[in-house]
This record gives sequence, C-alpha cells and structure tokens, in this order.
Amino acid sequence: MIMKQKRGILTMILAAVFSIGIMGSINPAQNAEAKRTVKIVKVQKVASKPYRATKGYMYNSAKLTKKIHNLKNYKNTTFYSKKRVTIKTTQNKKAYYTYVANKSGKIKGYVYSKYLKLYQPKTITIVGIPTDPSTTQTKPTASKLISKTDLQSLIDASPDLDPTGQLLSLTAGDYATYQSVFDKNFNVGDYANDGVFNNDQASIYVRSAQLIPYVQKAMDKWNSALGSTVFTLGTAQDHSLTLGFGNGQADGWDGVFDGSGVEVDYVSFHDSTYPYGPMPLSSSQTISVKLSTDDSDGAGDGMAAHVANRVHYDATNHYLTTTVTGTPSQLLENYWVGVITHELGHSLGLDHTPYFGDIMAAQSSVEDGQSQENEKYNWTDYKDSDGTQGGALTATLSQRDIDRAKLTKLLGYW
Ligand SMILES: [Zn+2]
Repeated sequence: MIMKQKRGILTMILAAVFSIGIMGSINPAQNAEAKRTVKIVKVQKVASKPYRATKGYMYNSAKLTKKIHNLKNYKNTTFYSKKRVTIKTTQNKKAYYTYVANKSGKIKGYVYSKYLKLYQPKTITIVGIPTDPSTTQTKPTASKLISKTDLQSLIDASPDLDPTGQLLSLTAGDYATYQSVFDKNFNVGDYANDGVFNNDQASIYVRSAQLIPYVQKAMDKWNSALGSTVFTLGTAQDHSLTLGFGNGQADGWDGVFDGSGVEVDYVSFHDSTYPYGPMPLSSSQTISVKLSTDDSDGAGDGMAAHVANRVHYDATNHYLTTTVTGTPSQLLENYWVGVITHELGHSLGLDHTPYFGDIMAAQSSVEDGQSQENEKYNWTDYKDSDGTQGGALTATLSQRDIDRAKLTKLLGYW
C-alpha cells in the first residue's frame, strides 16, 4: 500500500510525504473442502518432481467430488507430480491442483498445489572402507543442504535486506527448507493469491484505459530489471491480476494490493495538485520539489514537508530531505508509475524496507497499528541519508528491490 501524501504548501518548493503499506492480511490459500461445483479450465503435463504434503486432502478427480485420502496420514510419503489442472469454482475463482502418485502408483489423486512442498531428501554420506584413514572418502550428493549456520553467515555478509551472491544461487532444497529464514531476513512472503503467477508470469487486466500507459511503464521496470516477461497485459476475459481505480480516500491509500488486484485511488489520481501542490502542467520547464519526511505539525502519518529549515520535534527520529526534479507532468507521471510499481512489487512477494531509495520503502514498519508479518526488525523512520532519491517517488528500482525479487522467484512466490 502507498499511503496518502500530506499536501504541503507550494511556493517554488513543495512538500510531500510518504508512507507505504501492504494491505491487511493476505488471503490464505483457499481450501477446497467445501462442496462446490468446479469447472476444469486447463490440464497441463508437468515434469515429475518429488513432493510431500502434510495437510489437505487427496481427491479422486479434479472436480473434487470425493476425498480419498487425508494427507495428514501421508506426511512421510513422497509423491511425484504428473499433471497440473486449473479449475474454476462457481464463484469464478481459479485454483490449481496437481495430480500426483506415490512411487508404487497405488496412492494417487489430485492435491491442492499449494499444499505440495518440493521434497529434497537429506544428504547421504557414503564412507569408504576405512582400511587407511587417508582413503576414507565422503561423497556428498549434489543436493546437499546448506547448514543453518552457513546460511546465516551468508546473510550476515550480505547488505541489510539485500540478498546477494551465493544467497541467489542455492539449491531448490535450500530455498524450500529455509523459506521462513529467508522471509524473515529479507522481508518477503508469498503474498499473491494462488493463480496470479502462472509459469512465472502474471497477466494484468487494466480496467481503465487511462491507466494503461502507467501500468505499461511499471511492468517494463520489473520486466527489464528481472530480464524476463514477468508482467504482461491481459484482457477482461483472460488475465490473472486486475488493476483499476478504487477509493482510497477513507483508508488513506494511493495504491493497494489485495492478493489478486491492484487499485489506485481515483480522486488523487485525477487531482493534478496532488501530491506536490499546484503545478504548471503544460510547462516543459524543469522544476525542483524539495521534500522532507519531517512532521513538524505532528499531524498525519508523521510526514509533512518543510522546506529549508527542518524542525525536529522528536530528537530520536531521523528525518530525511530530498529533492525531485523534472517537468511537472514528468513528476506526476513518475509518482503514479512509482505507486503501481510498488504495488506490483507486493504481488512479487516483497514487503517493505526502511530504505527510501527502494521502490518498496515505507517510513514505518508498523501500519494500521500492526507490524507486518515478515520483518527482520521494526523501524520508525527511513535509514537513508539526506538527498537520497526516493525509489517510489521517481519510479526507480534499487538493486535491493531487484535482488529481493530474484529471491522471491527462487522461493516460488512468483
Ligand atoms: Zn506497500
């Protein structure tokens, strides 16, 4: 979520404020236990991979007519994937089921895909016959898991909240085993509903033509940074994510992601004095807007802008001053492209960071009185120094944003 900016008084220098948040809780995977009518939309053959499941049921058919096994009773059974079925419920919700079978083929059926966790057997160490200690050999298998201590050392050696180097080239087993360690250390989580990403892609249906150029720019930013087509434009009939205008006035947001859709506040989007104040929109002249996160009047989210002399009402907080530069229309365009890029970042599994230079920045880790789920630590103000270019304001992805999105792909969140 991107919270409403507090409007400053414009002279030549203007004021704005930020707070960016993710909306409420993310819907947990829908469970398929209630009776319902389902329609099979698509059946795909998939590579045979080993999985385990600890909850949910196995169904006799993709129409989910009959539960044949409670997976609680098969915690130690390895199942192999055969095909994936996309279904649609009567409420028109998409869900994915995987047809799996155990090794002998006796236990087989359809399982809700999110309940299947990739299974990597523990390393087997083969020790040679110890005739002479020097001939003793250990042969680790290719899928040896990294130890928790070694993983922590890599995390400690990497910049704060920024997974780099070896952290982005571990094995599938490492990512599956240490998922919660990664979530906690890099403020990430599986935030998109099941079905938003298919084959690492989401297709966005933009409900308002007016928003399309903004969405296109936001998609291009992620696509080019990640080196693949992660986001594409979809249609009303064929899409996995929707994007359109909504009403953020009451709850105070400019942008919000709810698991399967993004909304942009209609009123503020159509108000050209927002968030920087009145601007000569037709002018091609470059202007500079100076902003501060200082909240000297003590109102709002803790931010307002105060031009040259910042007044620190609270000695414990660090306030940040920055300047955005461009033609008035560029500044406004960047602002809204930044909002959409930020919300798409949530869909990729990225929560906030305290770094103003990130597209995923938020001034506080606490939103609506609640801490976010996956957070390395709490914060109440940005960590960057004065003059840092705001990632969301300028619609610019930082290296940290990109590295985190690479990590969430490895974790299977998109
Ligand atoms: Zn947010």
